Amino acid sequence: MVKKILKFGGTSVGGIKRIQHVANIIKKEYNSGNQIIAVVSAMSGKTNELIDFSKKISDDFDKREMDVLLSTGEQISCALLAGALIKLGINARSWLNWQIPILTNGQHTNARIVNMNTSKINSFLNNGVAIIPGFQGISENGDITTLGRGGSDASAVAFAKLFEADACEIYTDVDGVYSTDPNKIPVAKKIEKISFDEMLELSSLGAKVMQSSAVQTAMMYDIPLEVRSTFTDRNGTKIFEHQNIDYSKSVTGVAYSKDDAKITLIGVEDRPGVAANIFEPLNKSQINVDMVIQNISSDSKTTDITFTIKRIDLSKTTEILKNNQKIKYKDISCNDKVSKVSIVGAGMVSTPGVTFRMFKALAEESINIIAISTSEIKLSVIIDEENTLKAVKKLHTIFDLD
Ligand code: ASP
Ligand code: MG
Repeated sequence: MVKKILKFGGTSVGGIKRIQHVANIIKKEYNSGNQIIAVVSAMSGKTNELIDFSKKISDDFDKREMDVLLSTGEQISCALLAGALIKLGINARSWLNWQIPILTNGQHTNARIVNMNTSKINSFLNNGVAIIPGFQGISENGDITTLGRGGSDASAVAFAKLFEADACEIYTDVDGVYSTDPNKIPVAKKIEKISFDEMLELSSLGAKVMQSSAVQTAMMYDIPLEVRSTFTDRNGTKIFEHQNIDYSKSVTGVAYSKDDAKITLIGVEDRPGVAANIFEPLNKSQINVDMVIQNISSDSKTTDITFTIKRIDLSKTTEILKNNQKIKYKDISCNDKVSKVSIVGAGMVSTPGVTFRMFKALAEESINIIAISTSEIKLSVIIDEENTLKAVKKLHTIFDLD
């Protein structure tokens, strides 16, 4: 008998008809002899609506009460889905976080699942379908906690581990992971299989299919995932350990994001310790610096240092730099109209010339590269934001992904 975790996201349970449709998917899986634990998100828009309510009371709504509030979204979808299954003649039961219980560390609005009691649900699985809420748990002292926005992916992966499930399927509103954003680049192709590392890079570099921390947990515990659509029967994308993947292509996907900004310090003194003096206070303020470039100085006295950060950190960063008494520079320039375009592929490790081909392709489109960063399986460049789609399209073509 196969034990499956089936996770349904907000749009999948976004209305009564959709919930009835999900009930039919579950019924089919259950009637084929599988043990089913369904994990649900709140109906789409619900969590936002609840946050809006809290804001009408206070911009600084108490975090413990925020968790009590937000956890109700999933409670609604749990009950409706259980009811829909019962109506189809399936023995279904929902359990809430505190009834199981699902134990988290105590951090309100940003907790992590640490353990859960699986016995009650395990013994029910031979007789029916269990439905449990994503995105939440309770702390050691019994307070309700939530896992951070989009946290039901993390719940599904944690449950797969704790229940020792044989499969973890993420049902969503797209039918898998694509070689790039199919809404913007229509020639994008669905990827049949992808390794954890690649998926992790793609999701942290801008692909929005799955929460990247959930992918990271799945990788850590080696829990194979499948992302698939609630609305079609087509196979989705399988995400697993890379030994099982045959890499005929050097690049698997092209991702982009528009949440970076670039800062250049012009005419910085060129002597040991300067870079440390620049970045130490940023680190203290938890500002994450992504790429750093230092030009070679022509007069060996001063140099320019360019680095990138998250766009939301831009004003805080410039303020910190301007107040930093330990550094001297002639001028500072900022640009938040940049984007990061990345190619990702485990096949890059064994294919020479990928870097050169990427740079040449961008040159052919007259796209200027502002900054570069690489890892074993990804290559990212910062470019002017207006060139984003042109770059993505070109790279998608030249790496044979169209
Ligand atoms: N309902 C929560 C949210 O909207 C969790 C989730 O959907 O994953 O963030
Ligand atoms: Mg969601």
